[in-house]
Amino acid sequence: MAMISPEDHARKRDALIETLRASSAAGPLALEKSTSNLFRQRIQEPRQKLDLRHFNRVIHVNEHERYADVEGMTTYEDLVRDTLPFQLMPAVVPQLKSITIGGATAGIGIESSSFKYGFVHETLLAIDVLLPDGTVAVATKENEHRELFFGFANSYGTLGYALKVKVQLVPVKKFVALTHERYTDLDTYFRALGQVCQNRQVDFVDGTMFHEQELYLTTGTFTDQAEWLSDYTYRQIYYRSITRKKIDYLTTHDYLWRWDTDWFWCSKHFLAQQPLVRWLWGRERLNSKVYWKLRKRFNDSRLAQLAARALGGRQEAVIQDVEIPLEQAPAFARFFNQEIGITPVWICPVAAYDPSVSYPLYPMNPRTLYVNFGFWDSVRSDHEEGYFNKKIEAKVRELGGKKSLYSNAFYTRRAQTPSATCLGEYVAWEISTRS
Ligand SMILES: Cc1cc2nc3c(=O)[nH]c(=O)nc-3n(C[C@H](O)[C@H](O)[C@H](O)COP(=O)(O)OP(=O)(O)OC[C@H]3O[C@@H](n4cnc5c(N)ncnc54)[C@H](O)[C@@H]3O)c2cc1C
Repeated sequence: MAMISPEDHARKRDALIETLRASSAAGPLALEKSTSNLFRQRIQEPRQKLDLRHFNRVIHVNEHERYADVEGMTTYEDLVRDTLPFQLMPAVVPQLKSITIGGATAGIGIESSSFKYGFVHETLLAIDVLLPDGTVAVATKENEHRELFFGFANSYGTLGYALKVKVQLVPVKKFVALTHERYTDLDTYFRALGQVCQNRQVDFVDGTMFHEQELYLTTGTFTDQAEWLSDYTYRQIYYRSITRKKIDYLTTHDYLWRWDTDWFWCSKHFLAQQPLVRWLWGRERLNSKVYWKLRKRFNDSRLAQLAARALGGRQEAVIQDVEIPLEQAPAFARFFNQEIGITPVWICPVAAYDPSVSYPLYPMNPRTLYVNFGFWDSVRSDHEEGYFNKKIEAKVRELGGKKSLYSNAFYTRRAQTPSATCLGEYVAWEISTRS
């Protein structure tokens, strides 16, 4: 998609504001987007929607000052396409092509560069927020809207909608050299993960836990030379390569989207990892956007649901990302393997980019390295709905961790007026039931 000029963006924004002023809508308007990666049921009530689908273009890439101005609904796929020709990329690029910059800010976005740059919201320099009264506030870290700027992360659209953001870019090289180091014990593994993040000799760090005795630490380093180039966009499957290769090379573009082809490993649910099905499926249909559409169609179909239940028994979806302080990561991994048992699990370290600032709806200890555990599957259950998710929520709290809200949340509404101690939980409840 071609870039849009600043003037055309401004015209589009002013037309939107005019439409809002003329509108007779009472109460807040729900956001209408082309794509979404939310994995939870929203309240089904008739709501007027505000269509922001067309705020989806890159406006400007400033290669000298290394930033991009981008409309809020722009997908990372489009953003990366426009920055790579300048040998630049957004400091943190979430791995699913359909994730938008607004969604990854109002939700929480993470990737293997997060041990250096933090979450997506920490890579933003300014946000133009459409407020409920129809005005647009340009919020930065320093100006009169700084509370909105810092409050926007994890607000899930409850404070307003990002129409435009200014995002920090970082330089890239042509290729990424990967190493996959195998570990057979949790304590050594997480010690090594902490060490590699502290040393800062590499550009990317993430990992994969196949089970307690089979863990891989993957590092990526930019390079101008590649001894060979692998291709995980069709016949070969990236997550399987981790167990087979110690060293690998990808173009930077292919590195950024290495997990998208198979939606990490979740494409198995569509049989897309079977060689024949994969061949029939075709390269262009192997991506998270297609799986998401299929999943939605499947979920909406009563017949399919009944068939799944008859074949697999009662299932509970356990689709979550949680962050646990590094020193507690082995304890969480042991709990998870024993009590939940989903494999593989994605591991991604994340630390605050600027320890002097805080984002109140997603506060992190600025001196702690956290480990993100990402697990996206379902488990057989004879318990009440939410049994396994609630166990995870309780464990995360016990270990001083955090949980994203893009999927099911079972937090209670502790009080009408939250005290400081239960504020995080109260906000989580409000957001997960309303946004
Ligand atoms: C298999 C799987 C893998 C995943 N992998 C990753 C990963 O690698 N990295 C990662 O970061 N996340 C990952 N996620 C989580 C998911 O991508 C995040 O929840 C992300 O926030 C979704 O972004 P989106 O653009 O699809 O937002 P949406 O789902 O569309 O929206 C998220 C929320 O933000 C609000 N919102 C959207 N746009 C705006 C805007 N412009 N202004 C204000 N509010 C807005 C929406 O109303 C909604 O409440 C994964 C999830 C799954 C299930």
